[in-house]
Amino acid sequence: MKKTVLITGASRGIGRAAAEVFAKEGYDVAVNYNSSAKAAEDLCRELEKYSVKALPFQADIADKKAVEKMAAKIEAAMGAVSVLLTNAGIAEQALFTDITEEMWDRMFAVNVKGAYNCTQAVLPKMIQEKYGRIINISSMWGIAGASCEVHYSAAKSALIGFTKALAKEVGLSGITVNCVAPGVIETDMNGHLSPEIIAELKEETPLNRIGTTSDVAETVLFLASEKASFITGQTISVDGGFIL
Ligand code: NAP
Repeated sequence: MKKTVLITGASRGIGRAAAEVFAKEGYDVAVNYNSSAKAAEDLCRELEKYSVKALPFQADIADKKAVEKMAAKIEAAMGAVSVLLTNAGIAEQALFTDITEEMWDRMFAVNVKGAYNCTQAVLPKMIQEKYGRIINISSMWGIAGASCEVHYSAAKSALIGFTKALAKEVGLSGITVNCVAPGVIETDMNGHLSPEIIAELKEETPLNRIGTTSDVAETVLFLASEKASFITGQTISVDGGFIL
């Protein structure tokens, strides 16, 4: 059976690496992006080498109507989504006292409501098909909490609760829901960190390195596979042992 994965925020970073591993595995890939149209289109062209369908779909995942429209377009072009990877996210560093209501709301709109919007858009069909895989990208800071990232940590914690609760609700429909909590991964999101800070983070990591997008992508692919069919409601850390 041909499978279709919807990956939010697939134009760059972890999402892009996930698109690559899913395509290599034979999945058709719906590449969601917000503003990086060219990167998304270039990626889709690159994925053609795996003889799969890969198409770009623009939507701000915080916008429910936009996500509903995107999901309808995906279904028309690629069939029902059997795997949803809610990866798109934003991060920001600020003292708690400097976090404005607008910053707080946007952090939750993208990271948490985005997962709600995308899951609502594809879940009815998964229930009908009695099959589905939902994988949410949280963060090690959603488990441990990061100073100067209270809104980010709270949003990423919310995804862990979301995952556990939904896993209980949809298990009987043959759907698993899991979370991946990456540590420090080399992407644009960490582009603001100085080489000295990166060196310190590496030193604090038991496996003594920064993570790669492929470390996370391969874990996601495993959770989507039949090999992970008895795993649900879990949060898998991919952080080199940073949070133990
Ligand atoms: P990234 O390189 O900054 O890429 C973010 C991706 O999300 C881009 O494709 C971006 O699309 C998309 N995006 C952002 N806001 C969006 C929106 N409103 N609607 C749709 N797409 C949106 O980030 P990353 O490092 O790969 O992170 C991916 C996920 O992993 C995030 O949820 C992040 O919180 C989590 N994470 C990352 C790390 C890390 O160290 N990098 C660690 C833990 C967790 P455009 O290109 O169109 O803007």
